[in-house]
Amino acid sequence: MRTKIAAGNWKMNGLSHSLDQLSELAKSQTSAECAVVICPPSPLLFSAVEMTHSSSIDIGAQDCHTAQSGAHTGDISAPMVKDTGAKYVIVGHSERRENYGETDKDVCAKAIAARDAGLIAILCIGESLSDRETGKTLDIIGAQLAASVPEGATADTLVIAYEPIWAIGTGKVPTLAQIVEVHDFIRAELNTCFGAEIGNGISLLYGGSVKASNAAEIFTAENVDGALVGGASLKAVDFLPIVDALSAS
Ligand code: PEP
Repeated sequence: MRTKIAAGNWKMNGLSHSLDQLSELAKSQTSAECAVVICPPSPLLFSAVEMTHSSSIDIGAQDCHTAQSGAHTGDISAPMVKDTGAKYVIVGHSERRENYGETDKDVCAKAIAARDAGLIAILCIGESLSDRETGKTLDIIGAQLAASVPEGATADTLVIAYEPIWAIGTGKVPTLAQIVEVHDFIRAELNTCFGAEIGNGISLLYGGSVKASNAAEIFTAENVDGALVGGASLKAVDFLPIVDALSAS
């Protein structure tokens, strides 16, 4: 049985009053049959952990550095994330790959840093629109997996989020057949790489314009174990129906 996960990525959105949304979530999702993870901006991590302490919501960071400490002004390390009480960290989000030139090698090093600190990495991969239009999607996904997933990964250290770049924040969503094709491919690659017992245990999330109106259909796919949600995770009223759809799937 894989863990079903509804993860919210607040990106660079949210001030202290936004934590009210967390208490809304905490109040409403006590019967959720899935893990619920919120990744707020790093200044809110400590308060978010404190606020959700007595609920089943887990907190994650949106990035971590590859090093444990050192002269890296503005960065946060995986041990620092762990120290806040957070349980997850997103690595390799396409916005970081694009804005900061993060490579698969960097992403792999971040996933290793996360594992070494006792965090679960939510490792993002996904193709661009031109990759999709030129039929290169599976080649790109295969190459990203090969170069960014750490050796010895297990369900206790890794979650993979498939996020087609062209679907993030655009309102465009791949067809269910396209989602199924990529998720089945990722599962097969993990099984080949780590063996079926480990490969079948790693949760795969779909990300890219997930909302209340399309979540239930996406969660019908056998190898979709949840979602990484941006815009629709900012307000509890938008995120809760996605959590409910996943719980019911
Ligand atoms: C994301 O930020 O990972 C994401 C999927 O964003 P959105 O849901 O807004 O497309």
